Amino acid sequence: MAACARACDCRNSGMDLTFIGSGDAFGSGGRFNTCFLVRGTNRRFLIDCGATALVALKRASVDLNALDGVVLTHLHGDHFGGLPFLLLDAQLMSKRARPIFIWGPEGTEARLAALREALFPGSSKAALKFAIEFAAHRPGERRDGNGIAVTPYPAAHSAGAPCFSVRTECDGKIVAYSGDTAWTESLVDAARGADLFICECSSFERDLPGHLSWRTLAARLPSIGAKRVVLTHMNPDMLAQAAQLGIETATDGLTLTV
Ligand SMILES: [Zn+2]
Repeated sequence: MAACARACDCRNSGMDLTFIGSGDAFGSGGRFNTCFLVRGTNRRFLIDCGATALVALKRASVDLNALDGVVLTHLHGDHFGGLPFLLLDAQLMSKRARPIFIWGPEGTEARLAALREALFPGSSKAALKFAIEFAAHRPGERRDGNGIAVTPYPAAHSAGAPCFSVRTECDGKIVAYSGDTAWTESLVDAARGADLFICECSSFERDLPGHLSWRTLAARLPSIGAKRVVLTHMNPDMLAQAAQLGIETATDGLTLTV
C-alpha cells in the first residue's frame, strides 16, 4: 500500500496520493490541516492547502516547484489558509518560474488577495515571477486544464463562498474528496466509480452542523460506489474509535497507490 515512506519525487509510473495533512480545523490528534498531494507521472497537484500546509509539505520533502496547481474545496482556513505561505515561499524561497493553477469556488481570487494582505501586507500587490491562473468551480461542470480535470459538486457546508466536493482526474485515475459537508446525495455523484474517495468524518456519533458523523456515513456507505474509501478530518471522539470500525482512515504522511 505504501509506495514511499516520504513524499519524495520518485514516482515513475502510475499515481499515488499522500496525506500531507489529515486533520480538522482544531489540530485534533496533533494532525496538520487538510492537504493531499496527488502525484501522477507528469502532473502533481494539491487537493486543499490548509493553514499548516507549507510546514507539512516541507516536512515531507515535497518539491514545491514541481506542483502544477491546487484544487480547493472551500474557503475555510484549514482548507485554503496555507496558500499565502505557499505563494510567499514560491516567490522568495523556491523561486518559482512557471504558472500555478488554482481551482476554487467563485470568489477565491478576492478572498486569497485579502488573506495575503492580512498576513503579509503588500504581498498580494507585489510583482511575481510566475502567473497564478484561477479557474472558478461551476457545479457539475468538468473542466480539463493542463492534464488535470476537476468536476465540483455542491457540498452542504458554509464558508462565505460556495463549498464543494471535488472529483479529480489525472493519468486515467479518479480521486474524489468530499471536502467538508453534511450528507448530500451529491457525494454519490462525486464518488461514483472513483479509484479513491476520501471522505470527511468529523465526529463519531453526533452530526455537527455542516459535517458528517460516522453514524450517518456508515448508513450511507452502501450507496457510495467508489472502489476505495478512506476517512479523514476526524475529531478526538472519532479518532479514538477509528481503529475498530473496519474502514481505512488517513494519517499524516500516509501514501496510497491509486
Ligand atoms: Zn470547512
